[in-house]
Amino acid sequence: MHTLLWNNVLEKLSTILDHHRFETWINPLTPDPSSCSDCLILLAPNQFIADFLEHHYKKLVFSTVREFSSSINNVLFLHKPFVFDSKNSAFLNIPHSIDNSYNKASFFPQLNKRFTLESFVVGAGNQFAKSAALAVAESPGKTKFNPLLIYGGVGLGKTHLLQSIGNFILSTSKKHNVTYVTSEEFYLNFIDAIKNNNIKKFTAQYRTSDILLMDDIQFFSGKESTQEEFFYIFNTLYQTGKQIVLTSDLPPGSLKGLQDRLISRFQWGLCVDIQPPDLETRVAILKKRAEEDNLSISQDILYFIAENVSSNIRELEGVVIRLLAFASITKSDIDIDLVKNVLKDSVKAENVKISIDKIIEKVSEYYKVPVNNIREKNRRKEVALCRQIAMYISKKVTNHSLKTIGLNFGGRDHSTVIHAINNIETLKLYDDTLSADIDSIISNLNCY
Ligand code: ADP
Ligand code: MG
Repeated sequence: MHTLLWNNVLEKLSTILDHHRFETWINPLTPDPSSCSDCLILLAPNQFIADFLEHHYKKLVFSTVREFSSSINNVLFLHKPFVFDSKNSAFLNIPHSIDNSYNKASFFPQLNKRFTLESFVVGAGNQFAKSAALAVAESPGKTKFNPLLIYGGVGLGKTHLLQSIGNFILSTSKKHNVTYVTSEEFYLNFIDAIKNNNIKKFTAQYRTSDILLMDDIQFFSGKESTQEEFFYIFNTLYQTGKQIVLTSDLPPGSLKGLQDRLISRFQWGLCVDIQPPDLETRVAILKKRAEEDNLSISQDILYFIAENVSSNIRELEGVVIRLLAFASITKSDIDIDLVKNVLKDSVKAENVKISIDKIIEKVSEYYKVPVNNIREKNRRKEVALCRQIAMYISKKVTNHSLKTIGLNFGGRDHSTVIHAINNIETLKLYDDTLSADIDSIISNLNCY
């Protein structure tokens, strides 16, 4: 609906901004089909760009939008990590919370198209995992690797490989039902289904998958009834020759709080680990990322970065994104001093992980409203506002999708979260106290 409008805005902005800025910040944006009639949601390729636009380009974009449409009252920049691929919609099995009434196919986060086997750089630490992933993708359910479990530390490429399998299968065969889900989403949807007395529908969507890709199973730790439910789904799929691929941060034997019978099933197939990349692999990954982002970085500097960021590929990529931003703002070349500066920042950012629980807790403390009231269905006006504030902050400071945020607030759907963000954005324009409150809650979270 907003595509035409956005095309007009793009054209206008391309005449206002210099080429480099336009290409870096504005051109990568796409209007979100779930935008409402008075709010234009623009999807950014990563969180950094979304935040940057929010702080530096919002006024310009908004006023340009208003030149073409007076019915738009707000512009939002959001990053959705898993943008839905509408072309494949018919073949994706989409886990969903039960009481959603909106059109799921047009919104639900699914596989990230960037996560492919081709874009996965191979090195000594991940070579075996990649080969296993490829074998499974080529013949799902037909190899001995069932289940395939990929384990390894944070940011080493587990999700990338897992989703690559899904993308590969969808690109080669249209007859498979692929389900990708994080165990956190599985858990939250399960709780939701219990509340709504809807377990049957919940399990049906998993039992009908041909390929179940489940990310981060360590999250099941201590969640007995969720494990129970998963155990039955696992058995059904396994017995009918469907492919199961799992990831976790530890080898199955070291996973605490998981039932023995589950752990033993995880070991029926193949368990492979991903080790941190060596220097050469880190350089190769950096190079690939820089190329993808049209960023020219000399070989020396690539090595310098790779030597200084060694633990985690996500962190490496964060450095590339920041370099891109700095180079664009300052219009300077990428030299060692700039890199040093950026490295300082990115290490700080990497150390901060904020959970939605923590945000709810801080909002609850600040406004003296009980945590449960914020989470659950309490309609009192003050409570509803606190909830919206907590949702808004969750979007701003975490990488969670709108779907996950909604699920953390008593299983609300993504459109409620969008409405909340929209409402707080608008209120903030007129209400300085609210803005200050929010800033203070955020700084209390230690995230900036
Ligand atoms: P994990 O799930 O293990 O925490 P991810 O799969 O999310 O890690 O990977 C973090 C980031 O690093 C992603 O953007 C991913 O594309 C990138 N990445 C990880 N491993 C590789 C690799 N071997 N080649 C290219 N990119 C990689
Ligand atoms: Mg992951």
